[in-house]
Amino acid sequence: MDTLNNMITGSMLRNESMARRTSYGIGGPAKAYITPKDKGDLSQILQFAHQHNLPTYFVGSGSNLLVSDEGIDGLVITLGKSFNYLEINGATVNAESGVMLGKMVKECIGRHLSGVESLIGVPGTLGGALVMNAGAFGGEISNYLKHVTVMTMAGEEKIYMPGEIEFSYRHSTFPSDEIVMSAEFELIQSDEATVMEKRAVASGGRKKTQPLKFRSAGSVFKNPEEGAAGYFIDQAGLKGTKVGDAEISEHHANFFVNHGQAKAQDLVSLIRLARETVYKQYGIMLELEVKTLGFTPGTFDV
Ligand SMILES: Cc1cc2nc3c(=O)[nH]c(=O)nc-3n(C[C@H](O)[C@H](O)[C@H](O)COP(=O)(O)OP(=O)(O)OC[C@H]3O[C@@H](n4cnc5c(N)ncnc54)[C@H](O)[C@@H]3O)c2cc1C
Repeated sequence: MDTLNNMITGSMLRNESMARRTSYGIGGPAKAYITPKDKGDLSQILQFAHQHNLPTYFVGSGSNLLVSDEGIDGLVITLGKSFNYLEINGATVNAESGVMLGKMVKECIGRHLSGVESLIGVPGTLGGALVMNAGAFGGEISNYLKHVTVMTMAGEEKIYMPGEIEFSYRHSTFPSDEIVMSAEFELIQSDEATVMEKRAVASGGRKKTQPLKFRSAGSVFKNPEEGAAGYFIDQAGLKGTKVGDAEISEHHANFFVNHGQAKAQDLVSLIRLARETVYKQYGIMLELEVKTLGFTPGTFDV
């Protein structure tokens, strides 16, 4: 770790509490939380991690992450503010992964570009949005994507063209050992009224349905084919169920919120309870949308 610390030009925080790095405000320490300064730095860090067999995880702003109370025994790399280049030329958008999705969406709306306006209000970075194939109110980040640049553990850049990565509902096939660095989109030049209307529908819908006052990671489960995950959790009578300081939101049953002091273990208990109850009552095994880090395999199985 000392060698790595001396080598990098970005920042490396040791034993950084992941509670400070996630929207849940939950999670134990990461051995090292690294924000590379630039591409060269990132390349060096990845090569070092690879050569020394250091477990390495990539995160954005942690708005879709549940980290265990024990934390992460490895390197956590985020591109954050050091990769926040954003350029819009006509309807072509070039952005690095550390750009906040909200900023990109607002810049596009301001230019009356259509294609990403329904994503207004989705927290997180562009990198996280691409990997999650973030979506809302009928739109998905992958819809107008031209290509994506990643970096491999060999520290080399690689470009994915359309069709080389598959995107589906809250899922993409980016290899987990490649970090997403930047992307290009080709949006549609539209007019103010059309773009503002789509934006208003998304923004209004979000405010009405989501418990935005409390810390969460958005939807805990993906919606199964049979309907909305929140509907089944609600019908199973679980709204308002609390374990410690964690609660299945009264407002939206697929949002599990942290009232302040919740532990990852409290969330694990609620997740297991919801999966088990919905399975028993409806025969549906809910699948996690939230990404988990630092848990032993099988933790969420029921
Ligand atoms: C209140 C609230 C509302 C939400 N509403 C929505 C919604 O409407 N629609 C929706 O889709 N999501 C929603 N989410 C979830 C979340 O905002 C998205 O999943 C978001 O895209 C995650 O971005 P992030 O930067 O925080 O990624 P993180 O949570 O940090 O990471 C998410 C995943 O992406 C990977 N990852 C992140 N960056 C990189 C990178 N550069 N390279 C490789 N892998 C990377 C991580 O390993 C992890 O698997 C909501 C969350 C909250 C808290």
